[in-house]
Amino acid sequence: MPTETVPSDTVRCAIVGSGLAALATYATLRHAGVRPEEIAVYGTHEDPTEVWRTRAAAIRQQRMRSESDGHVGAAAFPGLAVHEAARRVTLAPLIATVANRYHPRVEDFLRHAEAVRARSGWEQSFRRERIDRIEPVDDGFALDGGTFRHVLVATGHPGLQRPVEFREAVHAYEPHDYAPTVAVVGAGMAAATEWLNALAAGSEVVSIRRREPVRRALNVPRAFFSKRGLAAFHAATGERRASTLRELSTPSYPPGPAWDEPIAAAERLSQFRVSDSSQTQNGVEQVICATGFRKGWREDTLLRDLVETNDLPTHGRWIALAPDSTVPGLTDPRRTLSIAGVAAQWAFPAADTIAGAKYAAHGFVRRVCRTR
Ligand SMILES: Cc1cc2nc3c(=O)[nH]c(=O)nc-3n(C[C@H](O)[C@H](O)[C@H](O)COP(=O)(O)OP(=O)(O)OC[C@H]3O[C@@H](n4cnc5c(N)ncnc54)[C@H](O)[C@@H]3O)c2cc1C
Repeated sequence: MPTETVPSDTVRCAIVGSGLAALATYATLRHAGVRPEEIAVYGTHEDPTEVWRTRAAAIRQQRMRSESDGHVGAAAFPGLAVHEAARRVTLAPLIATVANRYHPRVEDFLRHAEAVRARSGWEQSFRRERIDRIEPVDDGFALDGGTFRHVLVATGHPGLQRPVEFREAVHAYEPHDYAPTVAVVGAGMAAATEWLNALAAGSEVVSIRRREPVRRALNVPRAFFSKRGLAAFHAATGERRASTLRELSTPSYPPGPAWDEPIAAAERLSQFRVSDSSQTQNGVEQVICATGFRKGWREDTLLRDLVETNDLPTHGRWIALAPDSTVPGLTDPRRTLSIAGVAAQWAFPAADTIAGAKYAAHGFVRRVCRTR
């Protein structure tokens, strides 16, 4: 039930969800001149970094996977490399950026996100409330707390994925330490990070996986961030697009000696081995599921209701969005329904990145500003 009534005549847009994608959208709206009292943010966490920060800390992530442009500020420039270069009085981050080798420190990213939030007016707009339903009405959408012409949904991943045979195990994205013998389930970035973490903690590690890991520098290849690559993706048939997205969701981690050498050294000392059997867990003290998130609109109660009630077009686990990340059928010159984050992959394959959050934010803000 609503905890507060939002006056619908003053508030024009709402963001549902309060994570990194919400913050990126909020900063973009503010940059475009939309005032805090014109925006409502409905979410479960007042600190927009909290959910992400807890997961990144659980796998001891030190460096961002993204590069200088992986920031939540509204303007593309300056990126995080410029900030670091200015703070440390060195050109090194800028040189690394030119070679696509700059990965900001997680603590620097968090400091930057906090600065963006602090100067944005976020607190004025934030309402601690989970939204269960978005109902299309004339000229807008009714949420539990009011009516809005423009709504962006950024509810993030619908939960951690834990295979049933490992349901007692800790998930890699939950806080944990490492026992002397550890089985890590999975073959993606979180699994690879956990192999190295557990080895560094002195544990003996078994990697439980059904297939050999794919080695890829970025989760989503750079081409999908370019206008041309994206245009080709948007022009493809539904089946082709779904198959591209399935392919991109195959677990992967980057190639390189930083990953390979510690594993090779541990294998030589019999501290690391691979198994394809879930039975292997019986011989170890701790099992860690590095098995990612539950996937698809059906797993998110708000999105499921939205799709089923409004008969929205879908393709498999994806909502079939327009290229600018809006929901066709519920978006017209008077109102906008946008989706950001992982649920927006149909519009932008790298939607579950900070750059992806900004892609959806820009599409949303363009429409909001058209109706000013
Ligand atoms: C460990 C890890 C490291 C990553 N590293 C990087 C990186 O280096 N660079 C990069 O670009 N990306 C990275 N990513 C990917 C990406 O940036 C994150 O997934 C990011 O958190 C997505 O933001 P979000 O706002 O969509 O989701 P979240 O940050 O999860 O926020 C969603 C919020 O909405 C709330 N919510 C959910 N449902 C409702 C509802 N019905 N009503 C109200 N609120 C609701 C949730 O509780 C949550 O607070 C990483 C992801 C992980 C897991």
